[in-house]
Amino acid sequence: RAKESRHNRIKVFTERMREQAVAMLHLENDLRRGIDNREFFVLYQPIISLRSGHVIGFEALCRWRHPVRGIVGPGEFIPSAELTGDIIDLGLWVLREACATMAAWQKAYPHRNDLVMSVNISSKQFAQPSLVDQITCIIEETGIVPSSLKLEITESAVMENAESALVMLRRLKALGIQLSIDDFGTGYSSLAYLQRFPVDTLKVDRSFIADMCSGTQNTEIVRAVLVLARTLGLDVIAEGVEESDQINALRGLDCEYVQGFFFSCPLERDAASALLASANVG
Ligand code: C2E
Ligand code: MG
Ligand code: MG
Ligand code: MG
Repeated sequence: RAKESRHNRIKVFTERMREQAVAMLHLENDLRRGIDNREFFVLYQPIISLRSGHVIGFEALCRWRHPVRGIVGPGEFIPSAELTGDIIDLGLWVLREACATMAAWQKAYPHRNDLVMSVNISSKQFAQPSLVDQITCIIEETGIVPSSLKLEITESAVMENAESALVMLRRLKALGIQLSIDDFGTGYSSLAYLQRFPVDTLKVDRSFIADMCSGTQNTEIVRAVLVLARTLGLDVIAEGVEESDQINALRGLDCEYVQGFFFSCPLERDAASALLASANVG
């Protein structure tokens, strides 16, 4: 009898382990545990000025070191995190982490006080009025210069509800931080709103950069975005630059800022620091 009950206990135990393993494979059920266990980390992708050749900043990009699945990219967990609401905690953690990194760099490389850290903000985060106070706290806690933080909000997130977005953008801008419209060109922008939004930068979606050199109309679209941005007094960053032909085309259009695998993939914090350190020598 004793043997039988032990057998049953083992059966119950393994059953529970199996359930846990299945839950871990369903990422949305597993986000909370992953956040509590500090399984997320941030990579930093350099943004480069074509004019000076210098790194002018980085975009913070989140990853999940999942115990069963290995490294999981944001395309797989951000949509789930939006649905479950875990994006609020996760997004705050990314902001804190990226700002702490920026604070360390501002200390280590004081003459690079022009560096900017860009952080993605999801539409759900952007819709939370408390975001403004949270960012105020993070700036105070980390001691970064406010203008060295740039929030990236997608075109679809700001245009979805443009009137309330305008209010939110103004409150954020009042903190002294910078604002960027991400994936520009993939949504439906109201030019009237674009003109009223207190944003600093348009990031041209990489789908337009991808076929720039294959005889499509994309070169003309990028040219039009550059003209629009110049009219509105905004900077443009071309994202997803992978080939030298694209660099040449972007130079020809007088597009100053670029980001993409051609220069660097997203880097671990130490590798990004090393890049800054080496740039300082030259
Ligand atoms: P995004 O903000 O447009 O970020 C750029 C994405 O393009 C990144 O993908 C980056 O790794 C990738 N990329 C950069 N250069 C190249 C290139 O030359 N070629 C190609 N094919 N891809 C390139 P990643 O890191 O997988 O992120 C995907 C998206 O997930 C981001 O798009 C952003 O919308 C979202 N995301 C990433 N981290 C966060 C985060 O912390 N919070 C939120 N809310 N969203 C995030
Ligand atoms: Mg982005
Ligand atoms: Mg983007
Ligand atoms: Mg994009």
